Amino acid sequence: MTEQPPEPPEPFEHVDEDWRTALAIVPHPDDMEYGGAAAVARWTAQGKRVVYVMVTSGEAGIDSMDPGECGPLREAEELASARVVGVDTVEFLGYPDGVVEYGLPLRRDIARVVRRHRPDIVITSNFRDTYGGRTLNQADHVAVGRATLDAVRDAGNRWVFRELLAEGHEPWNGVRQIWAAGSPGAKHAVDTTGSFELGVASLAEHKAYLAGLGAPGGGMADPREFLEGVGRGAGTRLGTRFAVAFEVFPLR
Ligand SMILES: [Zn+2]
Repeated sequence: MTEQPPEPPEPFEHVDEDWRTALAIVPHPDDMEYGGAAAVARWTAQGKRVVYVMVTSGEAGIDSMDPGECGPLREAEELASARVVGVDTVEFLGYPDGVVEYGLPLRRDIARVVRRHRPDIVITSNFRDTYGGRTLNQADHVAVGRATLDAVRDAGNRWVFRELLAEGHEPWNGVRQIWAAGSPGAKHAVDTTGSFELGVASLAEHKAYLAGLGAPGGGMADPREFLEGVGRGAGTRLGTRFAVAFEVFPLR
């Protein structure tokens, strides 16, 4: 599960931090917390604004809990997680957890949130087939990441999804870069040494989800163990104690 290729890793470059607003678009409550929350804590402490958009409510994430009960619980846990790292706006698009499809409705709905929030930076999950090695990615992450890449450009084109114009959402061409957190293609990272504890506290707010993983969840059920492992790996390549890595896609 946690095998790491032993090849000597290339050093990471620092991500650009000269921006004001970021919009994070991910499939599930917990996606930001398993990757980027410590980075978000750093940025909100710098006075930046970060908004979260969850494409699903993560209602298929706890085996022992019916989705009808699970969805609202996971939304509440996500709001608490976000608050820990200085994020006060979390929106849920209501797509069905586990079976999100790449397609025009998803692109349109993501383009709408991009036009509404007008971010400089858009953050999404790793959408590559794996996390590196043979650790398979999950289908919703692939669909949402790919749709986000396309929807950011749709958001800037007046003549794509004209119903958005009719709703009053003018095009937004201000997104400078899209960042995919935790991608095996990452060449950039941000130093999270100073905000690492907030990242752990943010993930720990997913109490029911973490309890549902239980002992067989291994490293993923223990916020500190999981985030230390990932954070150290990225930090080593950035020259810091801890870091969060991103694959960066420039748009201009
Ligand atoms: Zn996820």
